[in-house]
Amino acid sequence: MASTNLQDIPTPEPETPYRPRQPYRFSTQCATVDNPSLKDQYGSSSVPIYQSATFKGVNGQYDYSRSGNPTRSHLEHHLAKISSASHALVVSSGMAALDTILRILKPGDEVIAGDDLYGGTNRILAYLKTHGGVTVHHVDTTKPDSLLDYINPDKTAMVLLESPTNPLLKIVDLARIATHVKERAPNAVVVVDNTMMSPYLQRPLEHGADIVYDSGTKYLSGHHDLMAGVITCNRDDLNKQMAFVINAAGNALTPFDCFLLLRGTKTLAIRMDRQQTTAMLVAQMLDCLGFKVHYPGLINHPNRDVHDRIAHGYGAVLSFTTGDKALSERIVGATRLWGISVSFGCVNSLISMPCVMSHASIDPATRAERGLPEDLIRLCVGIEDPADLLDDLERALLEAGAITLTAGADSHQRFVRTIPSEGTAISRAVQKLAYNESMGYTTEREVEDREWFVSAPGKVILFGEHAVVHGVTAVAASVDLRCYGITTPRHDGKVSVHFVDIDGFTQEWEIDDLPWNAVTPVHVGDAHPDVLDSKLVDAITTRALSSEVLEKPSARQASVAFLYMYMIMAHGGRRPSFNFSVRATLPVGAGLGSSASFSACAATALLLLYSRIQLPAQPAPTTDNHLHTSHEGRRAIPPALAEEVNRWAFVSEKILHGNPSGVDNSVAVFGGALSYTRAGFSRKPGMVPIQGFKSLKFLLTDSRVPRNTKQLVAGVAALKEQEPDFVEGLLNAIQHISDEAQRLLADPELSREVLLTSLSALIDENHGYLVKLGVSHPSLEAIRSKTASPPYALSTKLTGAGGGGCAVTLVPDNLSDASLRELMGALSTISFVPYLTSVGGSGLGILSPYNQPQRLATPPETPRESEGADGPELLRDAFVGKATSEVSAWADSLGRWLFV
Ligand code: PLP
Repeated sequence: MASTNLQDIPTPEPETPYRPRQPYRFSTQCATVDNPSLKDQYGSSSVPIYQSATFKGVNGQYDYSRSGNPTRSHLEHHLAKISSASHALVVSSGMAALDTILRILKPGDEVIAGDDLYGGTNRILAYLKTHGGVTVHHVDTTKPDSLLDYINPDKTAMVLLESPTNPLLKIVDLARIATHVKERAPNAVVVVDNTMMSPYLQRPLEHGADIVYDSGTKYLSGHHDLMAGVITCNRDDLNKQMAFVINAAGNALTPFDCFLLLRGTKTLAIRMDRQQTTAMLVAQMLDCLGFKVHYPGLINHPNRDVHDRIAHGYGAVLSFTTGDKALSERIVGATRLWGISVSFGCVNSLISMPCVMSHASIDPATRAERGLPEDLIRLCVGIEDPADLLDDLERALLEAGAITLTAGADSHQRFVRTIPSEGTAISRAVQKLAYNESMGYTTEREVEDREWFVSAPGKVILFGEHAVVHGVTAVAASVDLRCYGITTPRHDGKVSVHFVDIDGFTQEWEIDDLPWNAVTPVHVGDAHPDVLDSKLVDAITTRALSSEVLEKPSARQASVAFLYMYMIMAHGGRRPSFNFSVRATLPVGAGLGSSASFSACAATALLLLYSRIQLPAQPAPTTDNHLHTSHEGRRAIPPALAEEVNRWAFVSEKILHGNPSGVDNSVAVFGGALSYTRAGFSRKPGMVPIQGFKSLKFLLTDSRVPRNTKQLVAGVAALKEQEPDFVEGLLNAIQHISDEAQRLLADPELSREVLLTSLSALIDENHGYLVKLGVSHPSLEAIRSKTASPPYALSTKLTGAGGGGCAVTLVPDNLSDASLRELMGALSTISFVPYLTSVGGSGLGILSPYNQPQRLATPPETPRESEGADGPELLRDAFVGKATSEVSAWADSLGRWLFV
């Protein structure tokens, strides 16, 4: 038994008053085995092996090796020193260590343990349950609060934790749990199995644990040439109890194994540094190929922030799934350098399948219940040359059929993950997409070589602007002024954008020069995390954007959003080379949701190119050769696809706006109209589609007066502060308008005439309140008085933030075309820009890829750019050349559009 303190090897006194010595760092402590209270009589520089069962004499320090042995004492002293512990004990294996600890328990005690523990730990706990009268609760320790229901101050005697867990690398907040336990059951002992990290990377005693144990068989030894268990603690009483058990049961580590373990420990830090650096490379390689990888070093690993708080590195164990157990078995069997073996922590790299090896002792039902995938492969990285390890793994993946070598669209050869036939629903769907011949293409390459033409509407707020900020419900609807985007294949390893209506802005990037090392990909089927990856945003902004674009805010933000999605969606080695051209038939920056419709278009185009979404297979033609998929294309795009687009459009909106409400992108994707109430107020928050919304004709007039939304919103807030009753009254009145508008718009019984008259009245009333809130503008009042003047007598209100921007005028069905033209002319002459549009129409649209006329069928028929311009006309060429006012009609003329 070692009883020591960290001052045993004191940091030497300063040699000069000017340069004081620092305390020794970890690797120095590891390499320095020195115990002042056990000096060797000959000054041997390596601790000798006292291979002796007995010691002569009475009252000596040692008498019998079961009770104590000098080699063991040296080792225990050394281990205590590097573990921030005052006591260390060494026994014959990791399980012997746990067994020693568990003997603290008495019948009737309760243990709370994780639900993703090492298999042997489960086995011994199960034995204790049936033979020791101890109750064991397995809980999800990754959620610290899940323990609370089980902590009983009288019964909970022990809490047993592991972090990261093995083999799923789940992170447990050891510090927080220790605090919870100490507050609620002060007598309970918090025990941590630290084998996955070793004392170099994590020292749980510093975070509130009472006892820590390690399987010394792993990193501490490092060579797989011994079995050992190490127990450390700071409490004298616990140490005494466990030392008693070791002496009584006789499971202490033998002198020869103590010698080997001491020798291994000296190189712990240097081995671990190398091993975890390579582990990160392996994790990144698998991640980039599109496998689901569990490794705390990956930026999206759940609870990574917790791990960073309690540990100093990510270790050298990782695991990944392939989607197919047989495929996993083939991969494991195909490696040469990676040895098939249980265990980890050795200088040699190992590969295994936990469900058939280390965790086979857990029955299959429990494995499934605990979410342990049968196809999981665990990799334990050693110190071999990283290039050899990556090469061997890549060859095994290739030989097993998990990846194939294909030419990318840029004709560079790269590995691409093949989707197993019996994979997840998503992987099956992706595969179906790739081979869906009815779509007219058979490979991912052909998906990338097609021109995809997409569009999405802008939005207007019909009622409730400004009031929505204070918890009132707003009504928003799509406007049929749309953003359009076309992807056109390139074959030169570049990706480019052309924002025609932002001053004709263009920029192109060499794909390989993009900052790929800053990307943590979002896997197919996974949602983008709630928070943007700021590392990637920064890398794009600082390393991919030219100084010229940095000075053009709209083009800059749109480029960042596009590149962010392009890079974070990349999977399976695919990095398509293409150009994305965008047109906007709605004014940019006028409060009509132009950014959201851009976001929806960019997200859709990228999701299609990456085969992350797929249009439904073409239905069989009926006898009259007419497609009955939907009415005028409406509802031809399935809701699940629209939702996926909406999630990504929201990500793009975050880049463009920082903190969007999600209304604009929802309208851009789903079309129609919806009501929206912010969270944090008395009304039920959320977005609710207004069913049965009838498309209405509106005149949208851009005042061309720029606004400052933030300032206008702040102005209303200030007014509310000064005159709370007055503003509260206005807000209540606006809420009534929104409620009434929702009722009117959704009422199937209401005649068109009554609907229009009632809406007109609400428009005038709402505008009146907005004037009182101080957000109108002379230009908006001029538009209002023109539209209200005889013979038009139309109702107009500002829309959006006000202070300039746009006004909306409801156009009754009976207003003649001539009058309308005249009114629009009159508005134009006072330098406003009127647009006649319908509100509440279709959402996201994709030009149908089925049965396209030959002229539009892009590669394989379309020649590469180098082949000259004699081939079929590219959509893009006509698209960028059209006048803005012609784009919509031209797009409609191209063929059938599929809408949400
Ligand atoms: N704890 C963990 C996390 C392990 O992985 C292992 C062994 O694989 C043990 C404990 C048990 O250690 P030993 O095999 O030395 O008894």
